[in-house]
Amino acid sequence: MSRTVYVNGDYLPEAEARISVFDRGFLFADGIYEVSSVLDGRLVDNAAHLMRMRRSLSELNMRAPLGDADIVAVQQELIARNALTEGVVYLQITRGAADRDFAFPADAEPSLVMFTQARAIVDNPAARRGIAVISVPDIRWQRRDIKTVGLLASSMAKQAALDAGADDAWMVENGLVTEGSSNNAYIVTTGGVLVTRHLSNEILHGITRAAVLRLSHEEQIPVEERAFSLEEAYAASEALITSASSFVMPVVSIDGHSIGTGEPGPVSRKLRALYIDTARKHAT
Ligand code: PMP
Repeated sequence: MSRTVYVNGDYLPEAEARISVFDRGFLFADGIYEVSSVLDGRLVDNAAHLMRMRRSLSELNMRAPLGDADIVAVQQELIARNALTEGVVYLQITRGAADRDFAFPADAEPSLVMFTQARAIVDNPAARRGIAVISVPDIRWQRRDIKTVGLLASSMAKQAALDAGADDAWMVENGLVTEGSSNNAYIVTTGGVLVTRHLSNEILHGITRAAVLRLSHEEQIPVEERAFSLEEAYAASEALITSASSFVMPVVSIDGHSIGTGEPGPVSRKLRALYIDTARKHAT
């Protein structure tokens, strides 16, 4: 069945959706995106995603073609038209089409594309068995706090993981883990402390990360927001990742080192269950 996608004001069958070859998203990766998850046909933590979208836009001096309420209306229309019960809604804003020039065009109209992807996020076999990650050098640019569509380094990291027979990659800079290819990275120390890298320009400020840290505080799980090394991760009792499209996902092996018991640990399982409960309760 063909999906309906949204392109600059129109709802179109996916095969008819078009963007100009002069679009700066295509030529310069001059665009930003957001991915909001959908549970029971409702959006999870969407207001936080739209706030981060506004920040990404403002860091790049880019305009949005629609206000937040109109964007939510399009998200909900796509969920309805595509009968999406579980999955994600993807949203991308680019600076628009203009003759190719490195300088930002003065008068380009920003472009907005949105589409849905159906996916079983809750009932995911990978969450039951845990995933294997490998480490790769972090070769990305220095503004990873902006959620831009310049994702080639992340895509290469993911592919390197698959080529190595693993599921995903953790990126490492100056001996310390920054984040996963498309997720935030955590360990649980043998002392039971949940550790994830502090916020800075070096990582994306994950919306799921913020929710999981809130839940950890409520559950009195001790948290340290600081960088950690691969050696510390190999010796951890648990490891995990978070993102809007995977929620909380246990990591059971890093570079072939089995983590803890080699199975999803209690902190990861608890945080996943709590996150899913809370997401369902507050989805809009
Ligand atoms: N880091 C990176 C590099 C990502 O691409 C993502 C997901 N887009 C995340 C972290 C997780 O962010 P969120 O929880 O908002 O999906």
